[in-house]
Amino acid sequence: MTTDTADTSAPPTPSHQAVTDSNSPLVDAQAQLASAIATLGYEPGLHQLLASPRREMTVSIPLRRDDGSVEVLTGHRVQHNFSRGPAKGGLRYSPAVDLDEVRALAMWMTWKCALLDVPYGGAKGGITIDPRNYSRGELQRVTRRYTSEILPIIGPDKDIPAPDIGTDEQTMAWMMDTYSVASGYTVPGVVTGKPVSLGGSLGRAQATSAGVVHIALAALEHRGIPAAGATAAVQGFGKVGADAALFLTEAGVRVVSVSDQYGAVHHPEGLNIRTLQAHVAATGSVAGFPGAQDIPGEELLTLEVDLLVPAAVEGVLHAGNAHRVQAKIIVEGANGPTTAAADRILQDQDVLVVPDILANAGGVIVSYFEWVQSNQAYWWSRTEVDARLEHRMLQAWHHLLDVAAARELTLREAATVTAVERVADAHRTRGLYP
Ligand code: NAD
Repeated sequence: MTTDTADTSAPPTPSHQAVTDSNSPLVDAQAQLASAIATLGYEPGLHQLLASPRREMTVSIPLRRDDGSVEVLTGHRVQHNFSRGPAKGGLRYSPAVDLDEVRALAMWMTWKCALLDVPYGGAKGGITIDPRNYSRGELQRVTRRYTSEILPIIGPDKDIPAPDIGTDEQTMAWMMDTYSVASGYTVPGVVTGKPVSLGGSLGRAQATSAGVVHIALAALEHRGIPAAGATAAVQGFGKVGADAALFLTEAGVRVVSVSDQYGAVHHPEGLNIRTLQAHVAATGSVAGFPGAQDIPGEELLTLEVDLLVPAAVEGVLHAGNAHRVQAKIIVEGANGPTTAAADRILQDQDVLVVPDILANAGGVIVSYFEWVQSNQAYWWSRTEVDARLEHRMLQAWHHLLDVAAARELTLREAATVTAVERVADAHRTRGLYP
């Protein structure tokens, strides 16, 4: 069941439909693109080109389970655009993965790489699987079979996967090994987010969270709120959310609530994030953290805090709850946490929404650093990685503020317009072949 096609996307969504809650990340991504195209005055042909994934591959993944039975899973890899360089994007293991979600995430990766001026196009991969129900050996077999199925379209000059929801540095090590064995030599540059022992970059594991916090602190300053004593809530306590919560507390912010898919906890004086991490390591969830109050997960999103960091999944801020949000600033750690309808409501409430394609770009920036280091076989110090990450994040933040002010756009609109303009420029300069 392999397809490899040039244009199978939904037609572009007119921008006036962006106010309705679509419950579809792809519809939201297409609406954001349509709005940027309208601002830039681009012709319909260019719009359609940017709305369409360049290449999609859907593969069957037969898995022999530990009990001897065989199960067939489905995986995807979508490469949205190559105009500015090889495609780049994460690999997600989740029961919610479907082709449209992967398409949306791939498009957002194109804009993110362009906005941060890293020389990549966008891609994303996913397997429809709940990794908690599989043994380590089974996950290794799934990862290796998926890698070997998509092998023809990935590579350090083609498309470079990285971790996302449900995957980690071990997943990347298995991918790198499978690709390297097929190539006949070791190819560290085929993935990023690898273990440091295999050529991963120092600072990559914390990079997305560090970037989120650089932007959160800049946004607090922009709104005239001192970080020391400011309050925050963080949704999601995984690779992005947990360290974002930790780094916020290290900057003096009081993180009063965090959640995961099993529950949420609240403490008005602020949670001790290191102790909470130990509790999660021991119990598997933030729920039941001693000394804190358990609250419904949904309540976290509407707490009266200065800063809200959604760092879990798409579509959590929607038309049904956005009007109850009391945070002054939202910094999107997750990809696509705010629907188009919620965006409009939050704008009316004067909430400053810092879009995902800037806020969570720390991961792809240090992935880029890792790829550069892997390709050169020359390693940078942690200090150098951290300093370059901060510089790139803040440079993009200030540029975004300037664009938003000059064009009278929201930060999301300004970010998408900036990115789309860069990708369109590259496309036009290269020219249409043949
Ligand atoms: P992860 O799997 O490590 O963690 C996800 C966390 O979200 C877990 O704690 C999970 O329990 C929680 N969660 C899931 N559904 C939830 C819900 N409905 N309510 C509350 N919590 C919920 O994944 P991650 O890598 O931390 O990714 C989180 C988000 O950040 C995703 O949108 C991902 O695409 C985005 N992102 C990740 C990276 C990265 O480097 N890992 C980079 C950029 C963006």
